[in-house]
Formats: sequence, C-alpha cells, structure tokens
Amino acid sequence: MSNLRLSNHPLILHKVTLLRDTQTEPKKFRELVRELAILLAYEATADLALSARSVTTPMGIANGHRLEQKIGLVPILRAGLGMVEGIWEMMPYAEVWHMGFYRDERTLKPVAYYNRLPVSPSVQVVLVLDPMLATGGSAVATVDILKRWGAQHIKFVGLIAAPEGVQRLSEAHRDVPIHVAVVDDHLNDIGYIVPGLGDAGDRQFGTG
Ligand code: URA
Repeated sequence: MSNLRLSNHPLILHKVTLLRDTQTEPKKFRELVRELAILLAYEATADLALSARSVTTPMGIANGHRLEQKIGLVPILRAGLGMVEGIWEMMPYAEVWHMGFYRDERTLKPVAYYNRLPVSPSVQVVLVLDPMLATGGSAVATVDILKRWGAQHIKFVGLIAAPEGVQRLSEAHRDVPIHVAVVDDHLNDIGYIVPGLGDAGDRQFGTG
C-alpha cells in the first residue's frame, strides 16, 4: 500500500476519535469534519509547486512565494460536501466540481449521475474528497473520470478508510496518494467500515 499517506498528527487523531463517538451530535460532527478536512488537506498539499514572488513590506522588499498550480476540489456527494468549506477557506481560488454516483442494481457498479466538469481540465491539482473510503468504488470511478478529463495530479483526501478501499484504489490508480487519518479493521457485509463512524452523510445532515 505504498500510496497510503496515514496521518499521525495528534490533533487529527484526537478529532477523529471525537468524530466516531455516537454521542457526537450533527453540529459538532460537521465542525469536526470541517476541521479534519483542513488538517488533512494541509498535509496533502505539502508538495504544491511554488514560484518566486517578492513583495514590498513597510520595511523593504521580502522574497516570497506564490502558489503555481490551480487546485480543484472534487467532493463525492453527499458526504464529501462537509469537507469542502474549510479547505476552500484555505484555498479560496480553488474550483469546486461535485461528483455524484448511484449504484447500478444489476452490475453493482457506481454510475455517475452528477458530473459538470468542463470539457477540458481547468486545474492542475485535484483533491478528491470523501470522508469514508469504504469499498473504493466511487473513489476509483471518480479518479477514472478525472483522468479521462485530463487531470494530471490527483490526490484522495478522506478521514477513515477500510483496508479493502485502500487496496482497491491503490491497485486501480497507483499514482494517486491516499491521505486519511486512519485505516480501520474491515468492511462489513453491507459496506460499512468497522468500527468506522456509521453513515458519514447521515451524521452530518441529521438524517440517520
Ligand atoms: N460510507 C459511510 O458513510 N460509512 C461507512 O462506513 C461506509 C461508507
């Protein structure tokens, strides 16, 4: 699993534990998803390219930097929505492209029902956002779409992964780093991560 990038940052590990707790109500849950998304995106963007830029301070000239690459955020509906806002505050010029899938009952494969990507790529680095990397089906389908679109640098940013999801995404897309806080024990027979946190969409939107 060479493209797995596990975080061992104490803030992330503390917050993900609070997130899992059944006592954490939707308002607090949304806050934690937002904060964890910022922290994980911070780690996932540590290699963004910079160019030189000098600015005039009140005291003189400072040699500084400017981000070179345009960033796209691709939340997978619906649980990925809660990861957008915080990251977007850190990267206000990022473009946000939503992606939605349903599962075909016959083939059991994810089918995109929402994808408004423009004809040609408008960003150089794409962060695919989904709190739960479970079977990996939607993540693989999203990266497939983004690669066909022409995206060059794609990273997956999630909160909790199942080993099955990490393996599936790694095998399908060896070049896509997987940034998550933790990898849990296993997937159960209805596709939930154990111990996980339950349904990340329901817990954010109060629909459980
Ligand atoms: N999606 C969720 O929200 N939770 C899981 O455990 C798996 C997929």
